[in-house]
Amino acid sequence: MSSPRPGTPGATRECPHCRERILESAVVCPACKHHLRFDADVATPSASGHTPLRIEGSFRNPADGNAWEYSVVVAIRNDRGEEIARKLIGVGALNPDEQRSFSLMVEMAPGRGKGAGKSGVR
Ligand SMILES: [Zn+2]
Repeated sequence: MSSPRPGTPGATRECPHCRERILESAVVCPACKHHLRFDADVATPSASGHTPLRIEGSFRNPADGNAWEYSVVVAIRNDRGEEIARKLIGVGALNPDEQRSFSLMVEMAPGRGKGAGKSGVR
């Protein structure tokens, strides 16, 4: 799958702080939350963006049960149902009477310029 050219919607770069692959247009790294740009016109990074999907949930293991192991996986599909990304976010164990909370956020903001065309990435 090809990557969008620099300057087009969906173009990516590496966060200098945490090395995650992030959007070129990002003002704040969504992974490590470090500020990346200090442009005067992006003083309010969330002004033009929003979070159309946010799911949160938590699980508590009963005090009288066994430990449970978990894997947190996120997948992204395009409009043809094909998986274009899949990532294991984290693994761990829940001991009896322990709790974990999980949050999934999809943040969206208008891209700059026209679409990248037939890139295969949607
Ligand atoms: Zn980062």
